[in-house]
Amino acid sequence: MYATEFLDLPPLQGAAGTVRLPGSKSISNRLLLLAGLSEGRTVLHDLLDSDDTRVMIAALRQLGCRIEPQDGGLCVTGLGGRLEVRQAQLFLGNAGTAMRPLCAALALLSGLQGGEFEVSGVARMHERPIGDLVDALRGIGCRIDYLGNEGYPPLRLAGGQPRPGEPLRVRGDVSSQFLTALLLALPLMSEHGPVVIEVEGELISKPYIEITLNLLRRFGIEVARDEWRRFTIPAHSRYRSPGHVHVEGDASSASYFVALGAIAAEAARPVRIEGVGAESIQGDIRFVEAAEAMGAVVRQGPNWLEVSRGAWPLRALDLDCNHIPDAAMTLAVMALYADGPTRLRNIASWRVKETDRIAAMATELRKLGAHVIEGPDYIEVHPLAGDWRPAAIHTYDDHRVAMCFSLAAFNALAGARPGVPVRILDPKCVAKTFPDYFETLFSVAQARTADIPVITIDGPTASGKGTLASEVAQALGYHLLDSGALYRATALAALDAGIPADDEASLSRLAGRLALRFDGQRIELDGRDVTETLRREDVGLLASRVSALPGVRQALLELQLAFRRLPGLVADGRDMGTVIFPDARLKVFLTASAATRAERRHKQLISKGIPASIDDLRQDLEARDARDRSRSAAPLVPAEDAVSLDNSSLSIEESVQQVLAWWQQRRPV
Ligand code: C5P
Repeated sequence: MYATEFLDLPPLQGAAGTVRLPGSKSISNRLLLLAGLSEGRTVLHDLLDSDDTRVMIAALRQLGCRIEPQDGGLCVTGLGGRLEVRQAQLFLGNAGTAMRPLCAALALLSGLQGGEFEVSGVARMHERPIGDLVDALRGIGCRIDYLGNEGYPPLRLAGGQPRPGEPLRVRGDVSSQFLTALLLALPLMSEHGPVVIEVEGELISKPYIEITLNLLRRFGIEVARDEWRRFTIPAHSRYRSPGHVHVEGDASSASYFVALGAIAAEAARPVRIEGVGAESIQGDIRFVEAAEAMGAVVRQGPNWLEVSRGAWPLRALDLDCNHIPDAAMTLAVMALYADGPTRLRNIASWRVKETDRIAAMATELRKLGAHVIEGPDYIEVHPLAGDWRPAAIHTYDDHRVAMCFSLAAFNALAGARPGVPVRILDPKCVAKTFPDYFETLFSVAQARTADIPVITIDGPTASGKGTLASEVAQALGYHLLDSGALYRATALAALDAGIPADDEASLSRLAGRLALRFDGQRIELDGRDVTETLRREDVGLLASRVSALPGVRQALLELQLAFRRLPGLVADGRDMGTVIFPDARLKVFLTASAATRAERRHKQLISKGIPASIDDLRQDLEARDARDRSRSAAPLVPAEDAVSLDNSSLSIEESVQQVLAWWQQRRPV
């Protein structure tokens, strides 16, 4: 997950390859609740691991459900419809799929068995309506109090006397989650007779109700449906665990990769999506039809999709999106690549989601330069041809805004010259449903090498390059190349193999065959962890000698270039800006006085319990500097276009801020 303040997507040019989707949020949270209400144990496989499922799991645990890993899945031991805990305060974040059904279940349980529960969430959750659900439950005798604003969470569910026998009435035109909540919870009240729910107004988002009915069926509850107006839960319904259940991939999450294929994949090398397909029970799978209408070529199997570009530009669309409310946001960004204005209708529910999605989409699409018309329940998006503007996209703590706007980075394919980068603010909001979204995107997206940004940080030994580079990489979400580690690894391998420091041919061969693996900060050589060993003084000394050999430098070239991957790279060493990445957009030459550097190295060694003398260290540093500067192959010199940073009297934080400020000046966003 990218926990950075923002993530810059360079202009992207194509896509190919396979992605596996995380589990469906809607299915995961419904299954968790059903398993929690059932008698006995249910093992849930491929459950989504995200913010919204985490709050549901935490809430169920608070209510006394045992939830633990088993057989590669998560085993839930349910309550069997009996309250074990009668008082709790549940925090449900911004998860509508936890708030609504838990509210219904706890209102009924506290009424039938006694108890008092408070449910709350983040500020935005307290702006998302729940009044219609509360009214329906109050209508049958549940006692529910508003603790903040009338009609919105937080709520207290405090007993009352739910009376079976009367039909419940609930509005269907604000959020289908109210009906889902009732359908999931009301079997709790079916002991004395069937329970009838009547829907008032036009029911929206019907496919989500289908998911609810389908999953209830798997737990042994067969709800009778009379059109979309009347639902009857049979008398004596009991939640019966099916034992094991698999969660299918999230169809709304699939929409970004379907769109990706439609925009950027060649027919011969489609984007393949695994985890969801023709047999999906999720309504958003019908996004595929909308994408096809816009020109996508889609092949489907039971649980996979393969998508490539058909029509280009995409075909504009005029579509009632009531059946695919979440995935339709993706269409709004695809519309930028279309041959005319696209109108998405019947999407009033966007206004009460994680954010007011109609307003959010309109505002952010306009930042890219698009002409957008918004109405109470529709949005019309006009395409952009060459006139794309680089933009910083505000994401409103809404995962779908972040994910769908990543598709704007393919603007070069729509004629933007040059292609413009797209900045996604607060990218970690995707954790709600798809924590690894951007990593997954980068695994199939392609950019021109020249467009993948590189920051180089060169400088003498012990100038603090490594720390600075690592912090800058972390702040930007970029990859990190510690090129010194490659020379050190060559030196270590040479020590192990007993190769002398002047045998250039053998050393070059060795360097070309290094079995190195980088795993975050950890470095493995031939399968063993050498992170610490590489820092040894004798290894560093030999590295400084082998690195003077042109053959060794040549042998390590490809390996270093391969670090230039999406979304960007920070590389530190001696010749990053001069030889390896001469086209880097920002080159920093880091210096510090020899005295300061010797002192820092001394502190480092002492803190590790390694005895050292400052004078010796200083002599050693100066000798290494001299060797690095005077060697004929890639000598240590600042690149002509490098900016110098003397950090002798700067803290690490100050150096990082300086480099980030320079970077900011060089970015068009
Ligand atoms: O930066 P570090 O001290 O880990 O590098 C080890 C040795 O590798 C240095 O002393 C330097 O001589 C060499 N080196 C190099 N070119 C690089 C990085 C390191 O010659 N890009």
